[in-house]
Amino acid sequence: NITCNKLNLAFNYQQSMKKDKILVIGACGQIGVELTLALRKMYGEGNVIASDLREEHELLRGTGPYVSLDVMNKEMLHVLVIRHNITQVYLLAAILSATGEKNPLLAWHINMASLLNVLDIAKEEGLDKVYWPSSIAVFGPNSPKEDTEQHTIIEPTTIYGISKFAGERWCEYYNHRYNVDVRSLRYPGLISYKSAPGGGTTDYAVEIFHEALEEKSYKCFLREDTYLPMMYMPDAIRATIELMESDASKISVRAGYNLASMSFSPKEIAAEIKKHIPDFTISYEPDYRQAIADGWPGSINDELARKDWGWNHEYDLPKMVEDMLTNLPAQLA
Ligand code: NAD
Repeated sequence: NITCNKLNLAFNYQQSMKKDKILVIGACGQIGVELTLALRKMYGEGNVIASDLREEHELLRGTGPYVSLDVMNKEMLHVLVIRHNITQVYLLAAILSATGEKNPLLAWHINMASLLNVLDIAKEEGLDKVYWPSSIAVFGPNSPKEDTEQHTIIEPTTIYGISKFAGERWCEYYNHRYNVDVRSLRYPGLISYKSAPGGGTTDYAVEIFHEALEEKSYKCFLREDTYLPMMYMPDAIRATIELMESDASKISVRAGYNLASMSFSPKEIAAEIKKHIPDFTISYEPDYRQAIADGWPGSINDELARKDWGWNHEYDLPKMVEDMLTNLPAQLA
C-alpha cells in the first residue's frame, strides 16, 4: 500500500509538473489570430506555437513562436508535435463555405485530411486535448429553421457543411473508439475587427463595417431579410477556451456543440449601424451565397452548451455594433 501511495504521489506530481504545450494550426486566419493571442496570455507565450501556410500575421509577430506548416503534410506535423512536446492541438485550418462551393473536391480533401491527420497523431501520441470547430453549416434546408436544436435533422447541402458533419462523426468516433479528448463547437457566423474573414457566407457582417466607415455605403450579397445566427469574436474565443478548460466529465457532446448569441438580418444590422453613422446606406445584390444562406437555420438552440459547461454569451447586436465601430477605425488607420 505504501508503495502504491508513493507511486500515486509520484504520478500526481508528474502530472502537475507536466507542461501544457499548444499547437495552433491555421493561426493566421480570422479566428486563429485572436485565439492564439488569448492562449498565449493564459499559457505563456513560449507555450503556444502558432502555425499556418501563410506568412505570420502582423498581429502575431513578436508575441511567440511561429512555424510554417502545411497540415496536409502528416509527417511534418507529426515531427513538429514530437519535437515540441505538444500536448494540445487547436486545428483551425479549413476551406470555408463560399470558397468551398467554388472547388468542392479540394474543400472536401483539405477539410477531411487535415482533421484525420490531427486525430490520428493525437491517438498515436496520446495528446491531452484536441479542438476542432464545426459550424452551423451542418444544418440544411430540412432542419428546423428556428431555434434549431442540437439533435435534429442534419442534412447539409454545401460541401463545407458535408465536410463539417463528416468531421463531427470522426471526432465522436475517435473519442469513443480511441479515447481521444476532442472537443468541438458549431460556430455561427463570426464578426471581428482584428483579422479578416476567410471566404464564408456570413462575411457580409464584417465587410459592412469596413464599407460603412470607408464608403458610407454597402452593397450586400444577401437579401435584406436573410436571418443568420452570428456571434462576436470575444464571445467565440471565450466559448472555445471555456469548453477546452471544462472538466471532461461535463462534455456530453463530442460532435460539436450548438452555440449561439444573436441572430439578425442585413436590414437589422444596417439599421443598428445607422444609429452611429446616420448617412450610411445599404443596397442588395444577392449572389450564389444567398442559396447557401437559405439552407441554414435562422437561429440556434444552444441550451446543452449552457447546461453542460455553463456557456453564457455577453454580446447582443447593439453591444457588438458599438464595440466594432469603436475599435475598427484604429485597425483601418
Ligand atoms: P480562415 O480562412 O480565416 O483561416 C484559416 C487559416 O487556415 C488561414 O490562415 C489559412 O492560411 C490556414 N490554412 C489553410 N489551409 C492550410 C493548410 N493546408 N495548412 C495550414 N494552414 C492552412 O478561417 P476561420 O474563419 O479562422 O475559421 C477557422 C475554423 O473555424 C474553420 O474550421 C472554420 O470552418 C470554422 N468556422 C469559422 C466560422 C467563421 O465565421 N469564421 C464559422 C463557423 C466555423
